[in-house]
Amino acid sequence: MNRRIILLGGVGAAAVAGAAALAGSAADTPAGGTARAALAYPFRLGVASGDPEPDGVVLWTRLAPRPLNGDGLGGMPNRDVTVEWQVSTEEHFGTVAQRGSVTARPAEAHSVHVELAGLAPDSWYYYRFRAEGHTSRVGRTRTAPALTATPSSVTVLAASCAHYEQGHFTAYRRMAEERPDLILHLGDYIYEYGPVPGRARVHSGVSEILSLAQYRVRHAQYKADADLQAAHAAAPWLVVWDDHEVHNNYAGLVEGDPGHGIDFRARRATAYQAYYENMPLRATARPVAWNMALFRRVRWGRLATFHLLDTRQYRSDQACGDGWKVCPEAAAATRTITGPGQETWLLDGLAAHHGSWDVIGQQVFFAQRLDSAGRSSMDSWNGYLASRQRIQRGWLDRSVRNPVILTGDVHTAWANDLKMDYRDVAAAPIGVELATTSIASGGDGSDTPPLSDTEAALNPHLKFSHGRRGYLRTRYTPAQLTADFRAVSRITVAGEPVRTVASFAVAEGRPGLQAI
Ligand code: FE
Ligand code: CA
Repeated sequence: MNRRIILLGGVGAAAVAGAAALAGSAADTPAGGTARAALAYPFRLGVASGDPEPDGVVLWTRLAPRPLNGDGLGGMPNRDVTVEWQVSTEEHFGTVAQRGSVTARPAEAHSVHVELAGLAPDSWYYYRFRAEGHTSRVGRTRTAPALTATPSSVTVLAASCAHYEQGHFTAYRRMAEERPDLILHLGDYIYEYGPVPGRARVHSGVSEILSLAQYRVRHAQYKADADLQAAHAAAPWLVVWDDHEVHNNYAGLVEGDPGHGIDFRARRATAYQAYYENMPLRATARPVAWNMALFRRVRWGRLATFHLLDTRQYRSDQACGDGWKVCPEAAAATRTITGPGQETWLLDGLAAHHGSWDVIGQQVFFAQRLDSAGRSSMDSWNGYLASRQRIQRGWLDRSVRNPVILTGDVHTAWANDLKMDYRDVAAAPIGVELATTSIASGGDGSDTPPLSDTEAALNPHLKFSHGRRGYLRTRYTPAQLTADFRAVSRITVAGEPVRTVASFAVAEGRPGLQAI
């Protein structure tokens, strides 16, 4: 009761009246009543954690009793709300390792980001939140190993491209069931498009999202999905965006397609703000105007280092007007997909040799891919050839033993050998790329491989492709990497199983895919 009185003392009468109006139905108001209406159950977006370090991890939730409210504030009153959190080594919280409280504010859509410290390395924990008498579900998370430790293995799932309208998020559910150590999300976590009426699952609103309220509602709509919530509650995530968190195929401050009648800097600022609010990110990622510091490194002792790239915010505009092109301009030395600062940061991080496996989590197709007409995608690294050349040359010059590129965006699964010169069929690989298929984008997909026989002959380093929905499972040990491509046959019906459609191994110190 004391806490309520103190909180009430801090808000004006108008805010209290507004809160009562937003809180809605009489059923939400406790018998006997107080000056402020009770909050309806606010944890409808679930819980999440991310970016583990040896002594801590970020905990996330966002209060939203009515996630789809058009104002983007999820049915929350226009006032601060205190959110308590607890961390335990036990699922039932018999003993509590740490507890604290944090203030959820309207200016950040009542999201909270708790950066824990002082936990034991290489350990699993459970966490939950409480606000005004309501308790969240329990999430499971973990810390990273000590920087000097060599863990025996780490299992990492990778996901991307979850178009809500195109099917159920069954793949997210199956990811949760794997109980991985880490989940990497490589972008297109939401899509910005307006609703297409008649589908089983339909986007919020009436048109493409542009305003802060609309981006907040869209994130809330996705986060309200039970399968996605299960995946967030199962393990810490490392998230990086691609284009659709803002706008299809944007490049830096250049719109993908103009004509939305809004200053793109303002739109990017809005989309970045909503992304930050809805992801388990550290305060270092809090956006400033239309900029957000998203690229970062997460270390897993001496075993692996995860370099998470942002290939959208700093890239040059797509060459030759984007699309699939034969485009000499794509090779210009001045072109960059990372920006110079991120490129230097990546090469410096690779030179440090922190761990055996240097895993570069990023968005778009990295290896050379030519279609039968010799064209390539100007939105991928094939449209930024000098960037790819500098980074590949860079890891060779720095004696990086085990570079692994993890990729999203293409809505199909791929396993590729990387080559310093892709025309040299006999040359040994210098690294590998594993591209995860989409969670939902593209609907059920097809059993016909996306790489045709003609294209396979033109691109002999592309070893595997597959056209169903799913995710990528990778397991790293000091001796080898194993990768399993996991596929769900149908997502237009709920609850389908997942199966492995192909597996590859990479031996430590010997870049290149081995079919297993
Ligand atoms: Fe996508
Ligand atoms: Ca994309």
